[in-house]
Amino acid sequence: MTTPSAARLTREYPARYRLEGARCLACGEILYPRRLVCPACGAREFAVHRLSSHGVVKTFTVIHVAGSAFKHQVPYILAVVALEGGGTLTCELTDLVDQQPEIGMPVELQFRRIQEDGEAGVIAYGHKAVPR
Ligand SMILES: [Zn+2]
Repeated sequence: MTTPSAARLTREYPARYRLEGARCLACGEILYPRRLVCPACGAREFAVHRLSSHGVVKTFTVIHVAGSAFKHQVPYILAVVALEGGGTLTCELTDLVDQQPEIGMPVELQFRRIQEDGEAGVIAYGHKAVPR
């Protein structure tokens, strides 16, 4: 995984901060992040869809070898979270206390610091999943 540029963060993060996805006006598919074309039906018209911060773990993996931006955090758990009301999000699963990660575990998304790009660099924020 590479460190995102400041330009990319500026462009993409407002919608990510607000957990804003898109709902396809033709078929109802929920997309996050948003796309120009619906992968389910090919339509191009969407409404803003506010995602739930609650969901369940759909699948997960434990990362033991990571790119330079995340090498100080290994091992960590990367989970795909299926959100209530639609949409999925891939993020770190953290704050497990005497628990093992498992498929179906109810989680809540919390806004956290994700990484820092060098001593004076960009600090990236995003969502992490924690048990609820
Ligand atoms: Zn669609």
